[in-house]
Amino acid sequence: MKVLVAVKRVVDANVKVRVKADGSGVDLANVKMSINPFDEIAVEEAVRLKEAGVATEVVVVSCGGSACQETLRGAMAIGADRAILVESSDDVEPLGVAKVLKALVDKEQPRLVILGKQAIDNDCNQTGQMLAALAGLPQATFASKLLVVDGKAAVMREVDGGAETLSLTLPAVVTTDLRLNEPRYVTLPNIMKAKKKPLETVKPEDLGVDVSPRLKTLKVVEPPKRAAGVKVPDVKTLVEKLTTEAKVL
Ligand code: AMP
Repeated sequence: MKVLVAVKRVVDANVKVRVKADGSGVDLANVKMSINPFDEIAVEEAVRLKEAGVATEVVVVSCGGSACQETLRGAMAIGADRAILVESSDDVEPLGVAKVLKALVDKEQPRLVILGKQAIDNDCNQTGQMLAALAGLPQATFASKLLVVDGKAAVMREVDGGAETLSLTLPAVVTTDLRLNEPRYVTLPNIMKAKKKPLETVKPEDLGVDVSPRLKTLKVVEPPKRAAGVKVPDVKTLVEKLTTEAKVL
């Protein structure tokens, strides 16, 4: 069983992002970039399926500039077998990525496609759902447990006040939640091995896909600064202020 995993290169989760002075976007100059955390979980899950003898090949794919090669090598150091870079601009929209992935699903015929539930740079939470719709595949989003048995995937997903388990007929699309697994630490020998694994580069046009943007960013602003707090001498004053000034009681 082949597993296709989508990995996006994003600003590292620990970086405090700055908005560009002209409000056109986030300043990416000299900023540390990493694999999207949910995608690292997706790769880990696929590699565990391979280690369990359920999957036979794990293929990772990224859509973006040539720097994504580093992200793909990182995914192969976790244990993916080969990588595909769909070389394009760095800001392909979720619909464009979903179309690219649909073309790769047609070409590669994976039994399972795993994506992150969302990219932490744009917080879109759209690509997996759009891919499932375009490819006509069943989907389970926000997976916190995944079991593949007899051509079916059982996916546990957290819902308000509990958990539900879905059974999907493969091929299917699954998106990962934080609790699915804890990705392993990558070892130096595996980083070295990953350098020798195959990495193919294609263009969206080669796949017959148009990734030109459908959206225009009008403005990006920093969140408002928090106003300074005040210290109150006692509970009575606090209740008074909450009632008369904040008007929340
Ligand atoms: P989003 O819908 O943008 O929040 O992204 C959801 C998931 O889609 C991510 O966690 C990735 O698995 C995948 N994805 C989004 N953009 C890309 C990209 N440029 N390259 C590869 N995978 C992507």
